[in-house]
Amino acid sequence: TDVPAVKLNDGAEIPQFGFGVWQVPDDEVEAAVATALEAGYRSIDTAAAYGNERGVGRAIAASGLPREELYITTKLWNSDQGYDSTLRAFDESISKLGLDYVDLYLTHWPTPARDKYVDTFRAFLKLQEEGRIRSVGVSNHQKSHLRRLIDETGVTPAVNQIELHPRFPQEDLRAFHAEQGIVTEAWSPLGQGRGLLQAPELAPIAERHGKTPAQVVLRWHVQLGNVVIPKSVTPSRIRENIDIYDFELSPEDVAAIDALATGERLGPDPDTLND
Ligand code: NAD
Repeated sequence: TDVPAVKLNDGAEIPQFGFGVWQVPDDEVEAAVATALEAGYRSIDTAAAYGNERGVGRAIAASGLPREELYITTKLWNSDQGYDSTLRAFDESISKLGLDYVDLYLTHWPTPARDKYVDTFRAFLKLQEEGRIRSVGVSNHQKSHLRRLIDETGVTPAVNQIELHPRFPQEDLRAFHAEQGIVTEAWSPLGQGRGLLQAPELAPIAERHGKTPAQVVLRWHVQLGNVVIPKSVTPSRIRENIDIYDFELSPEDVAAIDALATGERLGPDPDTLND
């Protein structure tokens, strides 16, 4: 599978399709990432909070793939926000991963009540200057948080990784990203597999294209312009998910999927999550 590259505002590129490893235990993640790399994935999305950076690092080392062919993202956990603590937490992540640099580093949540996400981002910029982070990004940032980062640092994050799936399509934030030159990365792109994939509206679309509901939803994302990072530990599903580059949804298909929106999140509200 040839995964298209998406241009970032700093001149770098991110693969449009990647592999998410939230909730995959450290002793299982090596096998899952190995399967993904064999299936053609080159982008892996982990986080300090997932507790599996070591296992991801073992899979990277065992793959024998040249570092420059891989795209590795990790995230700074909330309790490590702040300038100095970010530098320390980054050192720990990179050492667990066994890497000299990550392609993308994200602030996991803004936790606005902490009021440290700007200082955190300043530390990211220092690490980028040192060549240890290729691209600086954020996750779960709302418009107000993005505006503040841009105003106070003069730098626009390359990526905002946000909850996004047909039930919660984030139209406003996507429009703001497009205006600001921020790439939208969708987390829980399959709606965590719960309910969404069983929606009766998806079955006929999938059947018409000879695809599965999961593939239809992932195709909807890439036609919207999102970067996606679906998770699975099942080898057949890992291969199935990335196999979406040989068909196209019609405008009617897209409209039927758009109609699944309920506006309800699966995850926390970024304005009020402060732990
Ligand atoms: P997802 O939407 O990728 O759904 C994964 C689940 O869907 C699987 O556990 C499985 O039950 C099911 N599934 C996967 N492939 C399937 C298939 N082909 N057919 C049927 N069912 C299938 O959910 P996710 O893991 O929450 O999100 C993906 C990634 O996004 C995470 O692993 C993580 O890397 C990232 N993420 C980031 C944040 C954040 O705050 N930044 C939050 C949640 C997730």
